[in-house]
Amino acid sequence: MTKEKDLLASVSDVSTESEFFSPVPKGYKKGKCRYVFVVGTVMSGLGKGIFSSCLAKLMQDKGIKVAPIKLEGYLNIDSGTLNPFRHGEVFVLDDGMECDMDLGTYERMLDQELSRANFATSGQIFSSILNKERHGDYLGRDVQMIPHVTGEVKLKLRQLAMETDADIVFVEIGGTVGDLENAYYIEAMRELAYEEGSNSSCFVALTYILEPKTLGEQKSKAAQLGIKQLMQCGIQPSIIACRAASPATEKVRQKISVYSNVPFERVISLPDSASIYMIPAMLREVGLDFEVARLLKIEDRINLRNERKAWARWCDFSDKMSKIDRKATIGITGKYTSVRDSYASIINALEHAGIALGCDVKIKWIDTTDVTDENAAGHLNDVDGIIVPGGFGTRGAEGKIACVKYARENNLPYLGICFGFQMAVIEFARNVCGLAKANSTEIEPDCPEPVIDILPEQKKIEGLGGNMRLGGREIEIKSNTLAWKLFGKADSVRMRFRHRYEVDPRYIERLEEAGLVFSGKAPNQPIMQILELPGHPYFFGTQAHPCLTSRPLKPQPMFLGLVAAAMKKRYPKENLPERIETIKKA
Ligand code: GLN
Repeated sequence: MTKEKDLLASVSDVSTESEFFSPVPKGYKKGKCRYVFVVGTVMSGLGKGIFSSCLAKLMQDKGIKVAPIKLEGYLNIDSGTLNPFRHGEVFVLDDGMECDMDLGTYERMLDQELSRANFATSGQIFSSILNKERHGDYLGRDVQMIPHVTGEVKLKLRQLAMETDADIVFVEIGGTVGDLENAYYIEAMRELAYEEGSNSSCFVALTYILEPKTLGEQKSKAAQLGIKQLMQCGIQPSIIACRAASPATEKVRQKISVYSNVPFERVISLPDSASIYMIPAMLREVGLDFEVARLLKIEDRINLRNERKAWARWCDFSDKMSKIDRKATIGITGKYTSVRDSYASIINALEHAGIALGCDVKIKWIDTTDVTDENAAGHLNDVDGIIVPGGFGTRGAEGKIACVKYARENNLPYLGICFGFQMAVIEFARNVCGLAKANSTEIEPDCPEPVIDILPEQKKIEGLGGNMRLGGREIEIKSNTLAWKLFGKADSVRMRFRHRYEVDPRYIERLEEAGLVFSGKAPNQPIMQILELPGHPYFFGTQAHPCLTSRPLKPQPMFLGLVAAAMKKRYPKENLPERIETIKKA
């Protein structure tokens, strides 16, 4: 705490004498970093993170250093204990932070590694405040939402600006204007903009334009009310982005402009898009990037040559989207089959690999609760490959094992991710090594052949939340294996983890003797991290989550391998395009 105090140059007048309270990190220069605040009105789920990441990308292309941050209203300390069915997938950063899936969007769009500094929840903010209070840091004052809680938020943003040396911090506020839980974030933004001075910040409000079927025309009233609510908080938006199923009409944009004091050209239309990778071009077309630069008066920091190069690279990528001439279907098994958000990174990783290979990857969701050895063929005979993704608990596990068995025996390309890796080990132990009772102690605590068991380091930890093996770790790759070839003959690769269980080292030898190859393991520890099956067209598993580090311009090799194998299966007679060979050799 004293260290933290040292970092605070001016906890300006922490006394009963003054109403000003705004902790600022030591060395912080007001006005150096600019802030773009992105808020949503009318409803949640407008794609604030997507919008914000695309805009940040356009600025980054210009050589401007950006740092995104997501502010969540909930009281959880991180997203680790959240149900993906309700909140979308839990994204894991390299430093082990379990956070909202939007951080994944930022990492992919910006091709930038983020850290815990890029994510805050009300839980973190309040926990820090309460610690400081117990420590006596408020010197006799009553600790208030304003200025103390808002002060803590501003401190977090300024710390991020300092740590990253960013030109622009993009602040995305979770939820919708008017929500009780994010009201203090919005107040903190207002204060920050006031304290930083003119041209320091720019507020972007995303809103939604209704188009009731019975009327057949767009209506702007809900949007107007939403913006009005923001203005009641003392915030004048600089830009309004109108989300809608189809492009917002000029009339609707004019209405919104008149009611919100936002110039017409800054009320932009942002209709639904087939791929989020088309949005940067949409924003660029309406000149939003330069508009933001003007509003923030940072035109002098723009590097046009950098922009030309970065944009050409991006266009090469997006051009590939229009040259897709193959297709393949990948089955994904999982409990949360109805919610695409629960598997956002996997869907993205498949899209990246598909675009690189010119293949439209369709997904077939397979609920494994009813899958058995007998009916697996019925579920899987129309897919070209299968992924068993990460998961927890027992429901559907036997069905997943039946899918693995089918894939192994029928040369169906297979990629097991974390839980899917563990299911592959269980299947192999049962059906190839003859350990009929093999299982994971997560599924069957007293199982007689616990081929998957809790990690020794995890046995000591009690309670839920933050107790998994988390974050980026090195994986040692065995030479001359498929993994080694896929990773460009690298001896080691870094991937991100989120698990509590592992292959019980006592079984490794037996599994290997029967033909399973552990081609990746933790350095200096018998933790198996990648498995493969020689002789099978593509049978691969990893204890890590390779989808978390796939990027549009850098597709993840394990996903490339899966899509390539699925294409080979789909087009067996065709002289397969050179692209697959190139990728395989890469
Ligand atoms: N439930 C498994 C474990 O804890 C797998 C976790 C996962 O798939 N992320 O090891």
